Amino acid sequence: MEYATLAVHGGFEDESHRAVTYPVYLSSTFIQPDSENFQDYAYSRSANPTRASVERLVADLEGAKHAFATSSGMAASALVFELLEQGDRVLISSDVYGGTWLFTTQFFAKRGIEFEVVDDFNTYDFEKAAPNTRLIFIETPTNPILTITDIERVSREAKKRGILTVVDNTFLTSYLQRPLDLGADIVVYSATKYYAGHSDVLAGFVVFNDDALYERLRIFSKALGGVLDPFDSFLVTRGIRTLPLRLDAHNRNALAIAEYLRNHPAVEKVFYPGLADHPGHDIQARQAKGSGGVLSFRFNESEYDLDRFVTSLKLFAFAVSLGGVESLICRPATMTHESYAPELQEHLGITRNLLRLSAGIEAPGDLIADLEQAFRAAKR
Ligand SMILES: *Cc1c(COP(=O)(O)O)cnc(C)c1O
Repeated sequence: MEYATLAVHGGFEDESHRAVTYPVYLSSTFIQPDSENFQDYAYSRSANPTRASVERLVADLEGAKHAFATSSGMAASALVFELLEQGDRVLISSDVYGGTWLFTTQFFAKRGIEFEVVDDFNTYDFEKAAPNTRLIFIETPTNPILTITDIERVSREAKKRGILTVVDNTFLTSYLQRPLDLGADIVVYSATKYYAGHSDVLAGFVVFNDDALYERLRIFSKALGGVLDPFDSFLVTRGIRTLPLRLDAHNRNALAIAEYLRNHPAVEKVFYPGLADHPGHDIQARQAKGSGGVLSFRFNESEYDLDRFVTSLKLFAFAVSLGGVESLICRPATMTHESYAPELQEHLGITRNLLRLSAGIEAPGDLIADLEQAFRAAKR
C-alpha cells in the first residue's frame, strides 16, 4: 500500500461493531478471564487498545516493527535517553529542539553521562569519537537554523563503532524522510506537530525495528508512565488520516514564502533547505522527499521594526510550535531557545533578529499578502 492509503486505512479495525473509526477505550483496567490466563490488555499504562492502534499505524507508516506512543515529544526523547548508563557519552546536534537541550544540560551531568555538541555531523571525524560514545542524537533539518545532516553517513559511521543513531524526525515525518531506511536505529517524534497537525494535542513516538530494544523500552515505558492517553491517541490517528495532504500544502507554502522572503528588503537571509542555494540542499534532495513547512529568516532591524512586524500579522499567530494547519511565527532567541547560553546562541546564529515561521495550509497568496502588509506597517 502506498503511504496515503496506509495513512487512511492503517491501525486496528473495530472487530466488535465494525465501526469505521476505531473506538476510544477510556478504561484504565481490563477484565481478565481467570487468575492464570490473561488477555492482551490489563492496565492502560502498560497497553491500551486505542494507543496500540496508533502505535501500529505509525510503525507501519515508517515501515518499522515497533512504535511507542508517549505523552509528548519530550517524553519520547526522554524514554530513549533512559538507554544510557552512567559513564556513557552522547554526541548531539548543536541546534536541537530547546527542550532536548534543556534535558541534555539538566539531566546528563546529574546522571554521570557525558555529552559532546557537534556543529556539523557531515564533516565530523568519527575516528576521534571517544570509545565510551553510545548514542548519537541528531535533528535534520535542525531547529531553528535548518542545517541538514547526512543521516546515511552518520548511521554508517556509528554502526561501525556500535553507537546507536537516534533521529528526531519531527520536522519531516515518515512521509518526507525515513531515517530507519537510511540506517538509523531509532526515530523520535513530537507528534504534537505534523502527525496530530491541528495544534490541539501533545504527543510523541519512538519508532524502531530491534526486538531487544523493544523489550528494554517497554519496561522503561511501563515504569516511567509517560504514555499517550486513549483520547489523544484517537486525535493523533485522526490527524494522520490527512497527513500527506497537509504536508503537501505545508511544503508548497513554505517554498513559496521562502522565495518571496529572499527577495524582500526586510529580510537579510532565509534558511530553508528547499532553496537551491541552501548548503544542505543536495543532501536534503537525496534523503528527503520535501523540506517541510518550517523556515527561518533574519529580519532587517535597521530598516524595519520587528515588534511592529509580528504584531501587524493577521494570519500568522505570534506563538511557538509548528506543524499545525494554521501559520505561526516566533522568535527562537527568546521563545524556544532561551535555555541556550547567550554565547551558544551567538555561536549558532540564533540571533535576536532571527524569526522562525511555520507555514500552515492556507492559500499561499493570502499568507504572502499578510507578510507584505506587515512589512509595510513595520517600515521605519
Ligand atoms: C516540539 C518538538 C519537540 C518536543 O515535543 P513536545 O511534544 O512539545 O514535547 C521535540 N523535537 C522537536 C524537533 C520539536 O519541534
